[in-house]
Amino acid sequence: MKILVLNCGSSSIKYQVFDMGDESVLAKGIVERIGIEGSFLDHKVLQGEQEFKQEEDIPDHSRGIKVVFGILVDEKFGVIKSLDEIKAVGHRVAHGGEYFPRSTMVGDEELRKIEELSRLAPLHNPHNANGIKTVKEILPGVPQVAVFDTSFHQSMEKAAYVYPLPYKFYEEMGVRRYGFHGTSHKYVAQKAAEILQKRVEDLKIITLHLGNGASVTAIKNGKSIDTSMGFTPLEGLVMGTRCGDIDPAIITFLQKNKEWDAEKIDNLLNKESGLLGISGISSDSRDIEEAAAKGEKRAQLAIDITCFRIKKYIGAYAAAMGGVDLLVFTAGIGENSSIVREKAVEGLEFLGIKIDKEKNSVRGQLAEVSIKESPVKIMVVPTDEELVIARDTAKIINGFSGS
Ligand code: AMP
Repeated sequence: MKILVLNCGSSSIKYQVFDMGDESVLAKGIVERIGIEGSFLDHKVLQGEQEFKQEEDIPDHSRGIKVVFGILVDEKFGVIKSLDEIKAVGHRVAHGGEYFPRSTMVGDEELRKIEELSRLAPLHNPHNANGIKTVKEILPGVPQVAVFDTSFHQSMEKAAYVYPLPYKFYEEMGVRRYGFHGTSHKYVAQKAAEILQKRVEDLKIITLHLGNGASVTAIKNGKSIDTSMGFTPLEGLVMGTRCGDIDPAIITFLQKNKEWDAEKIDNLLNKESGLLGISGISSDSRDIEEAAAKGEKRAQLAIDITCFRIKKYIGAYAAAMGGVDLLVFTAGIGENSSIVREKAVEGLEFLGIKIDKEKNSVRGQLAEVSIKESPVKIMVVPTDEELVIARDTAKIINGFSGS
């Protein structure tokens, strides 16, 4: 059975085609700069490692999805003979609010709800909904499944997700912690447990998704009990350009002293802060590590702040769960940066967290990086959100409930 996974962003569409027989990826790619000059398609066929790049005017998502379908059935670079071979389409959807605690088949009612949730995720849900509508037009009758970034965290209790604001803001406007990267946290926790030949239900796990966006989750007995991203993906750890946790009074301070409006402050916190803001060099951790190695003090400071805050979350989540058995690092920085991993767990030996510096030199591969005697295992697990979406999609169209 072939399943197409789509991730429709504001100006891009990422896709992968899976053969669920052996869960192999047949093709994957991205349509970029939709609606902007210089739009293009970058398509890879996994078997034979062929790549195809084409610049083309792609004014909107509808055209973008048609371009994807076109290349999938292309004589030279295609991986299917006809679109009939696609048995279902799985979509990554940013926000499921409290309405979607698990992945779901998308009918008219679900689509309406995803659109309504745009109020909570205005930069993402409208594009996700648009992708669903376009596929419905081109492939009517092909089942579509939505997999939400927020669903995995719906297991949190009120003590973890209600903010200490007047309660009516939660009741009337849905202002609460939702958490994101749920698909990734869940996948790497399960994968790590599987490698250790343990049941995820028997473990206390802290998963660290450290990419351009970053979040950490406490997973107890297989359930998310707390996570660092909140009402939006701005809260929590230091990110590429996002500030993470700050004193909220800084916002009113800036409003009063600089007379900045909401948009300017939003831009500051989301696009000009984090690694970029501290270092003044780049939002990319590779550039930061390179600059720090050359003695750039603010690049070093950016690494220090990032790692200190990760460490504090590890301590907090160990406390929240009454202990920790396993730490899992994932995403661009978590999978590749031995510097960040080492520094983030430095001094945590008292919690039983003992990293093996040699094993920790690993990049981008599944590995155990704790010393043999470490009571807490530390693992690097490459994330695979698309595979989770494909698996959930297959499960749901086969009549099982989503996760
Ligand atoms: P992601 O959002 O998961 O794609 O992660 C992007 C982040 O991962 C960027 O800050 C990259 O610099 C970082 N990254 C990717 N490869 C490496 C690497 N080899 N060393 C350090 N950071 C890396």
